[in-house]
Amino acid sequence: GKSDLVMVYHRLPYDEVIEEGEVKRRRPKSPNGIIPTLLSFFTERTGSWVAWSIDDPKRGKFATHTVVDPKLYPGLVASRLPLSKKDVDVFYKRFSKEAFWPLLHTFWERARFKEEDWQVYCRVNKAFAEQAAAEVAYEGIVWIHDYNLWMVPAYLRELRPDVKIAFLHHTHFPGADVFNVVPWRREIIGSLLQCDYISFHIPRQVENFVDVARGVAPVEVIETEDSAPRFRTYGFALGLDTMPSVIDVGGRRVHLGANPVSVDTKRIEQTLASAAVQESIARVKDEFEGQRIALAVSRLDYTKGVLQQLEAFERALLEDPSLLGELSLVLVCVPAAGEMTVYKTLQNQIEQAVGRINGRFSRMGWMPVHFYFRPIPFEELLAYYANADVMWITPLRDGLNLVAKEYAAVHGLRGTSGTLVLSEFAGAAAELRGAVLTNPHDVSDMVRVFLQAVDMDEAEAKDRMRGLWDTIRHHDSKAWADGFLAAVEAATSSAPGDE
Ligand code: UDP
Repeated sequence: GKSDLVMVYHRLPYDEVIEEGEVKRRRPKSPNGIIPTLLSFFTERTGSWVAWSIDDPKRGKFATHTVVDPKLYPGLVASRLPLSKKDVDVFYKRFSKEAFWPLLHTFWERARFKEEDWQVYCRVNKAFAEQAAAEVAYEGIVWIHDYNLWMVPAYLRELRPDVKIAFLHHTHFPGADVFNVVPWRREIIGSLLQCDYISFHIPRQVENFVDVARGVAPVEVIETEDSAPRFRTYGFALGLDTMPSVIDVGGRRVHLGANPVSVDTKRIEQTLASAAVQESIARVKDEFEGQRIALAVSRLDYTKGVLQQLEAFERALLEDPSLLGELSLVLVCVPAAGEMTVYKTLQNQIEQAVGRINGRFSRMGWMPVHFYFRPIPFEELLAYYANADVMWITPLRDGLNLVAKEYAAVHGLRGTSGTLVLSEFAGAAAELRGAVLTNPHDVSDMVRVFLQAVDMDEAEAKDRMRGLWDTIRHHDSKAWADGFLAAVEAATSSAPGDE
């Protein structure tokens, strides 16, 4: 049958490997915060999930439809779009990462635009649109995800004028000064404006989108929303008191919203309660006996600001020698998928900086930086969160940052305190009252705020954690999913006469 709700996300919610001509499933190798969140959406709902799947001649007959997980998500069917390895490499691994990823994170000088790659990108997006069009029920919802699929709304609208199209950006979205660098900005924005509802994490990103859209279409803001009660009005980088919520584009209404994704607090609670995680928590505590822990967790990416952290950490140790032997930095860096030179270079630079700091300051029985260059399983990560006195998250630019929410959820659930230091340039900073904000582009500020967090007295830390947990508790992944769908309904329910 056809689905009332179709997710279009570039990858499947599990990894596929081919063994002896058969397709086997694995838990995703590279951690991805959004997939569990999107899956949790289907514990009670039915729907389908359109994603690419390698079309490999070795795998035999290609079955497009399969239930994702009969136990956990019985109502969710994966609808697999066969793509050649070459198309996947160009569309996803190369083009999206080389052109759009840097640009979206305001590293526009790193962006490489190639016309022939754009052609592949459009062809693949069209195939996604066709698959979604075949999948969705009359007047159903198609929910498209992220910059890999920007052109899907345009193709889909042509094929299925009846459907409700919603789009969610997972990354940051820059303003016109940066976005206008994209050679195909007219096509991309034109496609997005075919949606009924376009969502970002925070108001600043909504504002930036409108800024860009104004440059390519006759955009008029019809309604604005008071965003202050939900987001902190923190100033230049992130927060805004109001944001455009409905725009008119040549007679078409497009609704806009800020729906920051969140964590599944129930799942975290259950996982924390397991004997294995309790043991891990005790083991990490023993391992760092008598020391305080600062924790940094990210994927290997220049947007995450790890080199800036290491520079600041080194300076902090010089500035406050009482930390020597007392405080360790646990630095978790998840290797990047694919073999791009930028990531290799960055890895070398990080390894050098870690080596330099450890060589300079290590003592018998104490090493300043514990560097893990591998993904840590979520269960184990929870043990590090639980033991970290300071969570140090300082991306140069980040759409949201789920690690920040996971850390606060762990301490909120356990009733313990811990200090979250968060970059002003992470979307989560606009939402998480209670975090101590820092500017990763300013090393003096990084050192000052880091030392402030390390020395924070218990009462203030408790108070701040209460604020963080309060936000996350009320805006967990379930609230997020309900809120998103309600917004799509609201955007598409107005009578035709209103338009
Ligand atoms: N993560 C993990 N193991 C690691 C590092 C990260 O499982 O070793 C998970 C982490 O729990 C989080 C996600 O990866 O859910 C990272 O999401 P975030 O929004 O912080 O950053 P992104 O990688 O999406 O930019």
